[in-house]
Amino acid sequence: MHLIFATNNNNKVIEIRKVLPVHFTITTLTEAGIFVDIPEPHNTLQENAIEKVDYIFKKSAQNAFAEDTGLQIDALNGEPGVKSARYAGDDKIDANNIKLVLQKLENNPNRAARFVTIIALRYNEKLHLFEGICTGKIIETPTGDNGFGYDPIFIPDGSNKTFAQMDITEKNIYSHRKKAMLQLIEFLNTI
Ligand code: IMP
Repeated sequence: MHLIFATNNNNKVIEIRKVLPVHFTITTLTEAGIFVDIPEPHNTLQENAIEKVDYIFKKSAQNAFAEDTGLQIDALNGEPGVKSARYAGDDKIDANNIKLVLQKLENNPNRAARFVTIIALRYNEKLHLFEGICTGKIIETPTGDNGFGYDPIFIPDGSNKTFAQMDITEKNIYSHRKKAMLQLIEFLNTI
């Protein structure tokens, strides 16, 4: 079984390759020779994931999947949500996004948050969707050097470490992306 994974984010590729059974292989956009910054113009993770996979499905004519992930913070009414990558600006700088979140949450005792991942799969033209959620909390001081995005300020429920203090194997015990991937794999196993 072979699929294109429609992403330019190498961290996501590493996380996903770690959970794939040996009989599944993926090609990234770079490996497929497709050099594009896929648009994410919509107001929901689902619409963006579908936009990404369809863009690549049309370009490559190969079975493909894409994912869109957002961090939803209760005290910020679900922000940054679908705007997670560009929360502090179109330059998509992780440190600036983290700074803005911490500023907005300053002195707020409600730190509850969750990561939500939506995977969209185009397989033989048909669309299939999968979801993974990881609940947790936002801490006050960024901690840890691993991972990407908001990992240094997010502690998943069931742990006392941020995602950025974990290696990928440990992050995948809790990860939203891993949960969505397991559903995708379960589905592919039925084909
Ligand atoms: P997208 O799915 O590439 O649009 O991701 C949106 C943004 O969410 C990324 O730029 C990261 O800032 C953040 N993000 C996505 N997945 C994770 C994760 O697993 N950990 C931390 N931040 C993440």
